[in-house]
Parts: sequence; C-alpha cells; structure tokens
Amino acid sequence: MYQSPTRVARVQVERTKTRQMANRRLNVMSSDQGAGKGACHSCGSTDEYVIAVHRMYVVPEDWDTKPAQSVQDDIEMWCFSCRTHYPHVLAD
Ligand SMILES: [Zn+2]
Repeated sequence: MYQSPTRVARVQVERTKTRQMANRRLNVMSSDQGAGKGACHSCGSTDEYVIAVHRMYVVPEDWDTKPAQSVQDDIEMWCFSCRTHYPHVLAD
C-alpha cells in the first residue's frame, strides 16, 4: 500500500509525542506509597510484594489505527510479575 511521505512523517511525530508523555508519567510516579505484602489484584497471587498502580490500556498502532493509551482511574495493587508484563502507571 502506497503511503505518502507526508503521512509517514506525521505518524512518526505522533509516536514521539506518545513516548514523551509516557516518560514524563514514569518520572513523576516514583513514590511507592501504599506498597506492602498482599494479594495481587491482577493475577490473584497472595503474599506478594504489591504496590498501587493504575492499569493502562494500550492500543497498538496498525495500518489504519493510531496508537493510543488510556489510564484507568481505579487503583489496583500489582505484584512485581504483573508490573513487568502489563502496561501501567504507578499511583500517587
Ligand atoms: Zn500479579
């Protein structure tokens, strides 16, 4: 499928913006208040060291879809394993 140079450039700019937003969030969210031993809300493991996070839904970029992400307002407690595997941001 033919893509004009203009369209390609625009997509790259948007991708950069999204990455900058994500980095800013990660830098701000560095506190680990509320952390402790407990059950993971994501995988259900108990006796895990869990911390408060907001689940993040990510829509991957496709040929006809712009990449997008949305952060949920709900706070969940996640274990290290889930924080490794799934997108999220740390809660305040
Ligand atoms: Zn987990």
